[in-house]
Amino acid sequence: MTKNLNVVIVGAGQAGFQAAASLRQAGFDGSVVLIGDEPRIPYDRPPLSKTFLTGEIELEKLWLRPEAFYRDQRIELEIGESVTSIDRQTRHVECASGRKVSYDQLVLATGARFRPLPVPGAGLEGVLPLRTLADAEALRTRLAGAREAVVIGAGFIGLEFAAVTRNAGVRVHIVEMMQNPMERVVSRETSRYFTQVHRRWGSDVLLGTRVTRILGERRVTGVETSDGRKLSADLVLIGIGVRPNTEIAAAAGLTVDNGILVDQNLATADPAIFAIGDCANFPSRFAAGRCRLESIQNAVDQGAAAAAAIIGKPEPYDKVPWFWSEQADLRLQIAGNAVGHDRAVLRGDPDSHSFSVFFFRGGVLTGVESINRPTDHVVARRLLAVDPRLSPEQAADLNFDLRAHTADVFRREVA
Ligand code: FAD
Repeated sequence: MTKNLNVVIVGAGQAGFQAAASLRQAGFDGSVVLIGDEPRIPYDRPPLSKTFLTGEIELEKLWLRPEAFYRDQRIELEIGESVTSIDRQTRHVECASGRKVSYDQLVLATGARFRPLPVPGAGLEGVLPLRTLADAEALRTRLAGAREAVVIGAGFIGLEFAAVTRNAGVRVHIVEMMQNPMERVVSRETSRYFTQVHRRWGSDVLLGTRVTRILGERRVTGVETSDGRKLSADLVLIGIGVRPNTEIAAAAGLTVDNGILVDQNLATADPAIFAIGDCANFPSRFAAGRCRLESIQNAVDQGAAAAAAIIGKPEPYDKVPWFWSEQADLRLQIAGNAVGHDRAVLRGDPDSHSFSVFFFRGGVLTGVESINRPTDHVVARRLLAVDPRLSPEQAADLNFDLRAHTADVFRREVA
């Protein structure tokens, strides 16, 4: 049935790779073309701010699959090629090289790109973002000779970079314009905890502070902040978030609003075009509306879901969102969503550096943030997927056996 179908996937990141791999795994026998503008075969981004940056792992550990995989799976991988437009009438995409590729089904997995900081000096040598493998390679080289770094933006990537940099013996200033680090994505409780630990590790954490200018002539020498301070630096990381890559979708007349708008099946208003991963804005019960997520879980699960829809087995996308971040010896794991909670309860003691925060809305569990408590995270994902029945009192009680409770919930579900 799918034999003569041509699937074209734009963006060879985690989501695009997964869509291609899942199509073949499901026995799809049409053609699959995976087009990516970066010069590398699909790779894993999370280590770029963690073990790749520290030098613990090398390039070959980053590839999602070796090159032979694409040949063996008959996935036509076009790297270093950028799709510049989509013609929805004739159903083909056009590439920067002039090549035209026709499709029956098109998957947009264009991800996101770093958001530039609009201040003077942002183009100086030594001022770098961290989104791509090329960025990480440049940062790794610079880090080796760095003495003092400024991290602009205390999101996950900024804080991961700060932890690695501090651990390498570099003096670190973290400058964040909000009052709390990671404010958009974690609760106050977790945010405050991370402020304290970064300070304890020796970083200078400036909150509610903006960078107004980056100093230097050719090379960076420091930054100037909104409170008039001058912080010296030979390395500056811009970590103020990303923008979804939506331009080709918008130019083709698809609706874009903080990402490419898709329905429950990840299809755009044009049934021949799907959007997945960091570039997609989709309806989610966990967000109480629509959301755009930047996580490996989301890219992988949506890649698989788009493949299922293409082979004629669509299922409304309803996966529990989860995420992790590693900062020195701390592993933060998030399941569900804390946004909009009316009650937060603590399980464990933050002073022990192993605790979770359980979030409830109207008495119903909506999300869990765990720091060095992997069991709580696993339990939370399972409960949120099936039946979030757990009271705040049970969550707070360390003697309450969460694992046994979850097993019980599952047994009842199956019966
Ligand atoms: P991307 O990985 O951005 O891939 C999209 C690809 O499409 C890119 O290569 C892009 O260049 C290409 N592209 C865009 N437009 C075109 C075009 N027109 N033509 C051709 N190609 C195009 N998530 C976690 O869950 N945990 C973590 O610990 C974590 N750590 C991270 C650390 C770093 C440093 C970064 C950058 C991200 C991290 N993430 C983490 C987020 C996670 O990596 C992303 O959410 C995920 O990679 C998104 O996958 P994607 O395929 O949607 O987008």
